[in-house]
Amino acid sequence: MLKIYLLTVLSVLCCSANAQVTVTSVLGPQELAVVPFDYAMDGTEITLAEMDSGLFVSPYSIRAFYEEASYGKMTIRGIVYPYRTNQPPLFGTGYTSCYPEDAVIANQPDVDYSIIDGIVIFPHDTASGKSCSAGLSSSEKLPFSTPVGNHEFRRSGFRTQFYFPNDFSQTTSSTIAHELMHSFGNDFHSNAYIKIDGEWTLQGYGNLFDILGLRSQASHPCSMIKHKLGWLTENEIKTVQQTDTFRIYALEKTLPGKTQALIVELPHAVDLQPNDAFAFDRLYLEYRGLTGFDYRSPALRRVRLKDNSYHANDNIHGLLVIGVDCTSGDDCLPMLIDMRPEPIGGLGAGYLPHEASDAPLLLGEKYTVPGNEISMEVINVNEGNYIDVVITMPAVASSIEPYRLDGVEIYPSPAQDYIRISNPNAKSLTARLYDVYGNLVLNGENGTTMDISGLSAGVYILIVRDINTNRSMSRHIVKL
Ligand SMILES: [Zn+2]
Repeated sequence: MLKIYLLTVLSVLCCSANAQVTVTSVLGPQELAVVPFDYAMDGTEITLAEMDSGLFVSPYSIRAFYEEASYGKMTIRGIVYPYRTNQPPLFGTGYTSCYPEDAVIANQPDVDYSIIDGIVIFPHDTASGKSCSAGLSSSEKLPFSTPVGNHEFRRSGFRTQFYFPNDFSQTTSSTIAHELMHSFGNDFHSNAYIKIDGEWTLQGYGNLFDILGLRSQASHPCSMIKHKLGWLTENEIKTVQQTDTFRIYALEKTLPGKTQALIVELPHAVDLQPNDAFAFDRLYLEYRGLTGFDYRSPALRRVRLKDNSYHANDNIHGLLVIGVDCTSGDDCLPMLIDMRPEPIGGLGAGYLPHEASDAPLLLGEKYTVPGNEISMEVINVNEGNYIDVVITMPAVASSIEPYRLDGVEIYPSPAQDYIRISNPNAKSLTARLYDVYGNLVLNGENGTTMDISGLSAGVYILIVRDINTNRSMSRHIVKL
């Protein structure tokens, strides 16, 4: 399926089978062709050298951002091509899009399409009256017919004023980094649940701690995206199995082997807002130390009121709780849960509900996950470095069934070859076995015997869900 996402349009999500966080291999070096279009040449263009610096060279370049955000696991590199001034006018007769058509993109005679992973189009236009989206991306490599044969590459485009180089707090760099993040396979925006008039409401782009959030101000992507992209590995992500205290290090720092995120599987999926399509069945917990690129624009993490004044919020050193929905689409979706979801100043006070800048759970505060016997409390904050969090989980022992699903039994654990799921009331069930990193390893059906003989020894998590009521139960399975 060809997917195109525009910065100004919320991602529309389809609903299909349950998914899981699919961990892709690290993308590694990405070879980009950067093609600036400018029919008008209106005198506001930056030089090609400045563009090269802003993309690839300067300490504040997109390349530097991705190297930091991926802990050195990937980079971008490429060639900035000369301005195209002899193309058909982008907004002239025959062009309904603000971006060049694919036939134009794929027919630039000086681009070596055979070696590129992606093409970045800069249809520079500062003229007023155009309602072009600020960015455009494909979320995967697309097939193109080029003068040197058929090739697949990512396509992203961006259109705004240039503030290159050396300023990641401005729109240029953050928008490009945002669009590239889409092109690396994230076909969604990082949203946040806040409350409007007492109702939980999912705000598009609402997680402004995230490059896929509203302002996209040089923030690292959230831990779920980093997990998915292979930037955070099992060495840096822990799945919480039982009540314990955890030290979570700042997500922005390169700290191999240090815990930088926690995953909490929820036995009962949480549906904060029944009128929307989303529920979350796991949490990702993280701490932003506001170091590196994330530190560059702390002043922007504030709540904007309707009169365009700002409610300062410097106290953001706490736990970010991200509900992740792996039940309603092809992809797992992160949704920041605002720990102070009510409007600033009370109902009707003019809170413009964009920015969950007050989302973190702060020192001494406790959050209990609705419908689950799971809670978390921040007990120590070492600003910029780490926080300590107590996670309280229901006791899970091999002989105790903490959650019940009307007669459904799961046994045995420990198990060598088979897990059995009894279903005496003939409910419509799904049964999915995950490893402790959240990867789906087995998919079962009603009343099945699940063959686990091929799995390696270790701890797994079985989640059985009643698809009619959406209630679920989970069980840790020890494979011998
Ligand atoms: Zn976007």
